[in-house]
Amino acid sequence: MALIVQKYGGTSVGSPDRIKNVAKRVARFKGEGHQLVVVVSAMSGETNRLIALAKEVQASPDPRELDVIVSTGEQVTIGLLAMALKELGIEAKSYTGGQVKILTDSAFTKARIQHIDDEAMRADLAAGKVVIVAGFQGVDAQGNITTLGRGGSDTTGVALAAALKADECQIYTDVDGVYTTDPRVVPEARRLKSITFEEMLEMASLGSKVLQIRSVEFAGKYKVKLRVLSSFAEGGEGTLITFEEDEDMEKATISGIAFNRDEARINVVGVPDKPGIAYQILGPVADANVDVDMIIQNVGLEGTTDFSFTVHRNDYQKALGILEGVQSHIGARSVSGDDKICKVSVVGVGMRSHVGVASTMFRTLAEEGINIQMISTSEIKISVVIDEKYLELAVRVLHKAFGLDSES
Ligand code: ADP
Ligand code: ASP
Ligand code: MG
Repeated sequence: MALIVQKYGGTSVGSPDRIKNVAKRVARFKGEGHQLVVVVSAMSGETNRLIALAKEVQASPDPRELDVIVSTGEQVTIGLLAMALKELGIEAKSYTGGQVKILTDSAFTKARIQHIDDEAMRADLAAGKVVIVAGFQGVDAQGNITTLGRGGSDTTGVALAAALKADECQIYTDVDGVYTTDPRVVPEARRLKSITFEEMLEMASLGSKVLQIRSVEFAGKYKVKLRVLSSFAEGGEGTLITFEEDEDMEKATISGIAFNRDEARINVVGVPDKPGIAYQILGPVADANVDVDMIIQNVGLEGTTDFSFTVHRNDYQKALGILEGVQSHIGARSVSGDDKICKVSVVGVGMRSHVGVASTMFRTLAEEGINIQMISTSEIKISVVIDEKYLELAVRVLHKAFGLDSES
């Protein structure tokens, strides 16, 4: 008998019939003698619908009230799944984040989990019940409802698995595992049998939305056995996130390609090249709670320097406004930006032992006439910023160039 946490995403619980199918799978695991905690997302499209609804009333919604609204999506699916299980004769009990007590900080819309009370869930499990928990939500110390950021149900699943010391956390979604890149963009993408935790962390942080980054961080910190599987196909082995590179791992230099359309670039040109200038530019941006991703500083003309950085596209106007506000104070010749960019990254632990990855990447893009605007690297990834209109092309040609296309 194992204790298993299963998480089902929005598409997997997107209709009453699909919820009934989830109940059947849960029932099967229960029938095999396992204890089950099931985390569910809202029905697909529901969170977007709720956000749009809020925006109709308040253009930039109050974060506390927005969390009150968007957390309702998951409250519906936990109730429906509990009913579907009862219909199959299985005892089940639903919990909101607040009822479990998933304690978070008070950063509405992007709260972090601080503690999970496992007592009530353990008592229910011991009594033979299936425990169903709303993903994506928690409660802060003052009792306010919080949410964990888009895709946050993955994090609920892994955090519960860590708190309960579960034997495995299974993430059921609409693809049958983690692929070499998003199979919706490259049909030739292949499912990976396993991927190292480090690579998964890079893939998630660089834009592969199959797992929310924080769920991967949790899995790493608490050594949760994590597997991504299809909720539509039966019997597949999915993709295991491993903590060691074992013998069987596919021996590729590059394991995957991630991309992110959510970025925007800001350029600050012709600032005096003197100590403190980076701080003068980025300090006000940080003070406004805007996260900065890539940063590049180049030597400019006559003792000046040019500075470029990227921010989330949602923060573009805000960041641009801040820089325009301080432009004369920092003595910049111009402040401009572009929100039609994207970031494409190649990821692989194999990069540590292979040379030439960067040159292959740059040559491949050059051959397609794709201009690289920014570059950043780490030990296991190379990222480039390019014009958004080349995104699909870039991902496709890189996928092929690094030998990732499936044979068929
Ligand atoms: P869920 O609602 O189940 O959480 P998501 O939409 O959040 O599902 O994540 C699954 C989607 O992630 C897939 O449909 C796929 O389009 C996308 N995706 C992006 N990159 C990858 C990748 N490398 N492997 C698999 N899926 C990926
Ligand atoms: N329903 C939330 C979202 O759409 C959380 C999740 O699905 O993981 O972002
Ligand atoms: Mg998701």
